[in-house]
Amino acid sequence: MELQTDGIVLKARPYGERDMILTLLTPEHGRITVLARSVGKNKKQSVLYAQNFVFSHYQLFKGKSMYVVDSADVAEAFYGLREDISRLSLAQYFADVAAKSGEETDAAALCSLLLNSLYLLSATELDERLIKLVFETKFCIIEGVFPSVSCVNCGKTPAKWSFRDGLFCEDCGNGYPLTAGMVSALKHISENDGKKAYLFSLSEDSARYLSKLLSDYVAFVCDTEFSSLAYYRSLSL
Ligand SMILES: [Zn+2]
Repeated sequence: MELQTDGIVLKARPYGERDMILTLLTPEHGRITVLARSVGKNKKQSVLYAQNFVFSHYQLFKGKSMYVVDSADVAEAFYGLREDISRLSLAQYFADVAAKSGEETDAAALCSLLLNSLYLLSATELDERLIKLVFETKFCIIEGVFPSVSCVNCGKTPAKWSFRDGLFCEDCGNGYPLTAGMVSALKHISENDGKKAYLFSLSEDSARYLSKLLSDYVAFVCDTEFSSLAYYRSLSL
């Protein structure tokens, strides 16, 4: 049985002497694990497709225990990422988060979010913190775990975020404090798509705080401490 699909490499690990096992995120089949045989041996096939973040059109065939790559045409390699260690480590974090998406997730939406975020990191000068805030918020929305940006109890403007229970106003509950600026940024990102989602402003301090809070929330919902995020953070110290 053959399968044609687009896919982004989330993870690539060596398997035996020459083979690689790739975890792909595909729009139609979600996450799939495929075997890439003799990477680098076949002169007609570039080795590029077997690297992290590379987006290709795949021809796969069904092997004994997993799909095997018959051919891969690279559509986008995001070369720009390889020139900036900070943006590269953030891309790795995005791929690691995408690899934790649920089985029921809207894979097409997640693919599109990841491709767009990788493009912005790789080929534009857009502030990486903005790219991260939007990626994390949209990831939580796609996963169905992003809270409504109003008090869960009375519907008023929220001022606190409880990861377990949602957002609360000053009077209704407890959680991590949020300023009005952070609340409007979260509202803006959650209500806008495409380029518009990135058009909001936050003070430097608020952006740093919100970035940390969203990463903590993503770690909470994925039940994972991401080592790529720890590495990304260590670069900005
Ligand atoms: Zn309330």
